[in-house]
Amino acid sequence: MQVVETVDELRRARAALRTRRIGLAPTMGALHAGHMSLVEAARAENRFVIATIFVNPTQFEPGTDLNQYPRDLPRDLAILEAAGCDLVFTPTPEVVYPRGFQTTVTVSEVSQVLEGARRPGHFQGVATVVAKYFNLTQPKTAYFGQKDAQQVVVIRRMVRDLNMPLKIAVCPTVREPDGLAMSSRNVYLNPRQREQSAVLYRALQKAARAYEAGERNPNRLRRIARDVLEAYDGIAPEYVSLAHPRTLQELNNPTDAPMLLSLAARMGTTRLIDNVLLPPHLNTREGLTATLGV
Ligand code: AMP
Repeated sequence: MQVVETVDELRRARAALRTRRIGLAPTMGALHAGHMSLVEAARAENRFVIATIFVNPTQFEPGTDLNQYPRDLPRDLAILEAAGCDLVFTPTPEVVYPRGFQTTVTVSEVSQVLEGARRPGHFQGVATVVAKYFNLTQPKTAYFGQKDAQQVVVIRRMVRDLNMPLKIAVCPTVREPDGLAMSSRNVYLNPRQREQSAVLYRALQKAARAYEAGERNPNRLRRIARDVLEAYDGIAPEYVSLAHPRTLQELNNPTDAPMLLSLAARMGTTRLIDNVLLPPHLNTREGLTATLGV
């Protein structure tokens, strides 16, 4: 496995490849089984696998956890090597944003709701760095996690709007045994919060069961999930959304068409997010990619 830190090295490594079947898995490191599912899908479907590890400062709002964000490059590289990754790009902020840098990618509407409404500038930071990765690595397919569904919606919109020549694949959320979505930020939870945090997924599941029993009323489905969250003192729900999976517009009328049920909640100072697609059978690599990907 080759590890490169500069744009020149990455361009040289890319230019030397004899295959177009390149899979890309962008990450911020502190790797867990969720990240590995992206690398494994890329490995299974491509001749060459590239991962990135970069804690992108522009996607953290001022005063948040940029400096506390967990970092362990030697461990991450060992994990990627064992997973069969071929090349890892581990740039510094100066490599990604050299002096004079002044270009950004703004995906307007789908970036303004949900996470974007609470994290101003976040998706502009994401879209800009991901566009750079796509230009540098020119993958056939880039792999993203359902865990950050809105991120996929934003990137899909960017890829379509700017005619970027690649596919976006979406891998299902990997969970802890109790249902908590794996996240590098879960280490911030104290033992009591960690125990309660499984309620996010239970809220989604309760709404999904109601859906399967025939409930289609968006207000009632949102209410079912919200009631589960509100039963816990230590959890402050920020939003419960039932939205169109590509426009992210909130739904008001019953429909059998795919819907994205997503939520965010605060436990102390830690924000947690989670989501499922409805109908529930869509929460597979194929269903997610057909609904959210390109
Ligand atoms: P991050 O390092 O948090 O920026 O995540 C890098 C990629 O891994 C993104 O595409 C995430 O959606 C994906 N990812 C993070 N957590 C999970 C998870 N629990 N299951 C599946 N994918 C995930």
